[in-house]
Amino acid sequence: MRESFSLQNISDKLVTAIWIYDVDNYCMYWANKAALTLWQSPSLSELKSRDFKLDTSEAVKQTLCDYQHLFEQKKTLSRMWEYNPQGVIKEVFCQMSGFVFDNGQMGLLCEALPADVINDESNPNSVVMLSTYDFNGKFISGNPPFIQIFSKKSHSLYEIFIADQDRDKFKNFINSTPQYQQFEEDVLIKTVLGARWHRIIAHTSHNNSGNKKILVQQFDINSRKMSELAIAKEAITDPLTGLLNRRGLLRELNNIIKNNETFIIFYIDLDGFKMINDSLGHTVGDHILKSLAQRLLTHKSIESLACRYGGDEFIWVINQKDIIETPKVIANLLLTELNKPYFSDQLQPMLVSASIGIASYPDDGCDISKLILRADAAMYLAKKQGKRRWVNYIEGMESGLQQQSEIAQCLFVALKQHTLMLYYQPIYNVDLNDIDSFEALLRLYDPELGWISPEEIICVAEEVGIITELEYWIIKQAIMDLLVLRQLISPNITMAINISGVHFTDPKLISYIVKTLEQYNLPLNAIVLELTESALLSDISDIDNSVTRFIDAGFSLSIDDFGTGFSSLAYLHKIPAKIVKIDQSFTNRIEDCNSMVESIHQLIKKQGFTTLIEGVSSMHQSLLLKNMGIFLQQGYALGKPKPLDYYQNNISVYR
Ligand code: C2E
Ligand code: CA
Ligand code: CA
Repeated sequence: MRESFSLQNISDKLVTAIWIYDVDNYCMYWANKAALTLWQSPSLSELKSRDFKLDTSEAVKQTLCDYQHLFEQKKTLSRMWEYNPQGVIKEVFCQMSGFVFDNGQMGLLCEALPADVINDESNPNSVVMLSTYDFNGKFISGNPPFIQIFSKKSHSLYEIFIADQDRDKFKNFINSTPQYQQFEEDVLIKTVLGARWHRIIAHTSHNNSGNKKILVQQFDINSRKMSELAIAKEAITDPLTGLLNRRGLLRELNNIIKNNETFIIFYIDLDGFKMINDSLGHTVGDHILKSLAQRLLTHKSIESLACRYGGDEFIWVINQKDIIETPKVIANLLLTELNKPYFSDQLQPMLVSASIGIASYPDDGCDISKLILRADAAMYLAKKQGKRRWVNYIEGMESGLQQQSEIAQCLFVALKQHTLMLYYQPIYNVDLNDIDSFEALLRLYDPELGWISPEEIICVAEEVGIITELEYWIIKQAIMDLLVLRQLISPNITMAINISGVHFTDPKLISYIVKTLEQYNLPLNAIVLELTESALLSDISDIDNSVTRFIDAGFSLSIDDFGTGFSSLAYLHKIPAKIVKIDQSFTNRIEDCNSMVESIHQLIKKQGFTTLIEGVSSMHQSLLLKNMGIFLQQGYALGKPKPLDYYQNNISVYR
């Protein structure tokens, strides 16, 4: 049988409850069958005869009035509503729009979808809590969901805010915004369930008698907000250390700048960390990074920002208003803290040092990215000057960084294409008037950059993690060339090879050198390993130190650049070296004041070491030194560093 076509017929077939509510007269105008079920009504006429006025709280009344206003502007709304038909609580998701009656009044057309089919994340899908207040914030009325969450006790609207700034912002809105403009924010609120995130939508309204009211709609968005916050936190946190990541740091620094505050950036880089990671494994490396992060967080117990900026690069920022000391004093304290031994479960305490670059906002720049780059440039200089130190940024330093990456590029190419070179500088025994040994010195020529200083090459190699590969090449080449020099000049000549302090702790270094010497049939005493005083001292304070392992294996060590380190003479007896090389800065002063060099020499002798002096640049200097009893001498006056073929071609001079 054909069904008759009428709107009522069709709408009664829908599972969605639809009704039209007469807001002004508090009664139902029309409803479909599904709506009758929702409203627990046996018939449309029964539903239409109901008077909703008694059940409508002031808050709901105000809200509906407000909706009428929005409908006039052709707006629609989606809200979770709670209804109480005949005392039964029903939660439904309502899509509401306006319906204009013949007399021009605005009614409410509502489609109520079952709550479980709603999965629209953009809508706050908790039941709407409605409340009204007078203009002083005094509670007037609330719908049942509101009363449940805030208890029946009437309270002031302003009491529910947890953060002062939210309360102030809200008050400001109420006092200064015209009717029907909306305040809409996610705010942390005090409820009977404790602190919860609510979306608050509020505005002021004026009723016919001119009284102003505040109308508030609230949705509990706590669980969604918590996961949003967790995701937001994750996005600015370094997962290994829990410190801020780059993005987090930039955000925080921007906030400080907005508050017109000034700050100091300490750019921290661990010395030779890549080497530790490669030789002792990532677990140990991670452990050191985590411990360092912890030290930064607790250092000086002042409020600071700590960020892991890259692999082993950290940034520590302090607000200038929080300190009375100068940045220098703070940097020294920070260095002392970071250079303390690091303890790990399975291993002996590990010594890792840090280099720090300092830049201040706004003195050293107002652009955050540039400022960080400047602190980085200062840090790079601290590395170049011997590590374990801090350097303050001064203008123009950043050109060094650009250079660093160019050098790294060159070095990778040179290692691959075998264009690195070693030059050999003779070390004379002036008493015997004979060559005692040679020192191998690294050389690299780049067609664009020209000659690159070996100090810079070593520094870059340590930083980019190819120091092991580089020094293995140097050791092998120097040993092969020593074989030639022994045949050319004398079979007892030895070779001094510089070893970077970073590479010295490589546990495989000893076996590599032993194997290479064996390969060329040379004894252990054919080579001397030169290490700087600071590298040796920082190592020797470690219980299982590399110095002892080298001495036990039968190697001779030479203390390079003696007198330039920070510890100097007082610690000399701690290092079981054979030769002490007095730094060339002393040699330069010998003509003005020779007592200094003489007393250093006496001390070296007393400790049972042999003195070698470098940087001898005139025969006059050489003679003065010889008269003091310093026989091992190296310097341009006696012989400049030269490639192997130079000695092969000028053999008559050296025989
Ligand atoms: P160093 O070990 O103190 O080497 C001595 C430096 O003094 C060399 O500079 C040498 O050319 C220079 N020199 C020698 N005699 C004189 C002199 O009479 N007057 C002056 N003004 N200088 C003189 P170079 O070759 O530029 O090396 C600089 C530094 O680079 C070395 O200082 C060393 O620390 C490092 N280095 C060089 N080659 C290597 C290497 O193969 N491995 C490592 N780890 N470091 C190296
Ligand atoms: Ca040296
Ligand atoms: Ca030296």
